[in-house]
Amino acid sequence: MAKKPGKRRLSLTKKQREAGVGAELFALCQSITEDGSISKEELLSLRSWIVGNRNASIPAVEFLSNTMERIVADRRVTQEEMNELYDALVKVMPPESREEAELARNIVTEERTDIGSAGYLALAMLFRKSKRFDAEVRILERCLKQQQANPYYRDLTGGEWTEKIEDRLIEARVLLEGYERYGPEGKGKCEHCGKAPRKLYRLDTGLWVCITCRKQLCPPRPPHLASKTQLKRLGKLGFAVSDDMSKEQADRTVDMHTHVTYYVFDAWEILTGNRPKYQLGYASALDQFVTSLFHESSLVQRIVALQERRDRVAYSKMTEEQLDDPYRYVHLAATKPPLRQDADFQYVAQRLRQEYPQFVR
Ligand SMILES: [Zn+2]
Repeated sequence: MAKKPGKRRLSLTKKQREAGVGAELFALCQSITEDGSISKEELLSLRSWIVGNRNASIPAVEFLSNTMERIVADRRVTQEEMNELYDALVKVMPPESREEAELARNIVTEERTDIGSAGYLALAMLFRKSKRFDAEVRILERCLKQQQANPYYRDLTGGEWTEKIEDRLIEARVLLEGYERYGPEGKGKCEHCGKAPRKLYRLDTGLWVCITCRKQLCPPRPPHLASKTQLKRLGKLGFAVSDDMSKEQADRTVDMHTHVTYYVFDAWEILTGNRPKYQLGYASALDQFVTSLFHESSLVQRIVALQERRDRVAYSKMTEEQLDDPYRYVHLAATKPPLRQDADFQYVAQRLRQEYPQFVR
């Protein structure tokens, strides 16, 4: 039976992209599309590569060659033609790499209008998944640079997103170093005990060691102490933390901070008519302000006690259904007894006016 003349497969096959001309083309496509656009230099080097390899009997090369010749036929290249060429490059890439190239292009478009970070982080994650750590480092650096060019961005998110990206960048640099030193398996000679081959981990000191040596050199924290993550979170909230802070103390501080945050939210709403939003879902621009109130410990104790009372009253009034609702905090906020505008309230209001005169009058 004759084979159906189906659509010809343009993308590089696994065999092609692992050897010879196919591998060269795949690397070229990846490097050109990494930043989401084709520069003039990239266009020229792609063209000369195609000219040198157009006799390779690979459908992808033939397809690119035809596209390229059509585009340069009139000796000038328009933006539309550049887009068409980019599409052609995406088409010859294997499906699992196309998403990276598409996202990279979206970011270029977004950079003209938007200052968000979601696209960068999504692309960084794809790069990490495909172990392109060098590309991951570059995209995160570009994201930070973009944010530095927009001081408004830091204000908008209280700096939390910038910190998140800085953390990711540190991780990516460690992964890149490991990859460059020990290859995709991450195995080599432990720099502490000398055993090999072992899967290696980088200590903060820069030493690459096996898991046994890591356990010995960095023993886990005793369970009664606050975890590193807790200490980091408290540090970001603006608290001065010491390494030997207890877990109980850390839990209580976070808990108190949350109570005071909701108090300040209620006060803000009374003063402005608007409820402050949690920026991007997980960080509040008011975090540092709330922490600054902790300098007055008796004030904070009174606020926490008040908030715990208001919560108890609200819970006692809520119905069974409302208590079971995953969004019970909405009901809680609506059922809480109103905030009395006593001396503590006046004091917090005064501090808010000083700190945010553009919003609170
Ligand atoms: Zn070791």
